[in-house]
Amino acid sequence: MHTKNEEELLALGERLGHLLQKDDVLILTGELGAGKTTFTKGLAKGLDIRQMIKSPTYTIVREYEGRLPLYHLDVYRIEGDADSIDLDEFLFGGGVTVIEWGHLLGEDLPDSYLELEILKEADGRCLQFIAHGSRAEQLIKELQDGV
Ligand code: ADP
Ligand code: MG
Repeated sequence: MHTKNEEELLALGERLGHLLQKDDVLILTGELGAGKTTFTKGLAKGLDIRQMIKSPTYTIVREYEGRLPLYHLDVYRIEGDADSIDLDEFLFGGGVTVIEWGHLLGEDLPDSYLELEILKEADGRCLQFIAHGSRAEQLIKELQDGV
């Protein structure tokens, strides 16, 4: 998929946010400034979260309350060292878990998750969704059907 500007990326995030259910996990990949946190802001809106989403780069984890709890993680600073956080607390916390740089977690990743790679283009972004497991496949299908 492609988004032409920040507003479109936010809108896509919001649309995915509407589709998400308890225990869904999303991994966000893409260089610094690609739009991982921006996408999460849209996603939070789709989860009816009213609080302002701030980057978890320095805090590693931020939690929000909405239609479902949102656990927003950025594991870049801990270099994906899952032992330094209680990952299960979030993955099995009854909410939605979004992990920026989540691929760094390697084998500590759950079996089932949706991966989104964001690539910078001149003004817009190229988005590639990759399904890991059947739930993620279903989410991609629902997202495409909604276009
Ligand atoms: P990351 O979390 O991947 O490091 P952020 O979402 O924090 O990235 O930052 C993305 C930055 O790029 C924001 O400052 C945003 O305003 C800017 N930006 C410019 N154009 C776009 C676009 N088309 N889509 C998303 N973000 C954009
Ligand atoms: Mg970020």
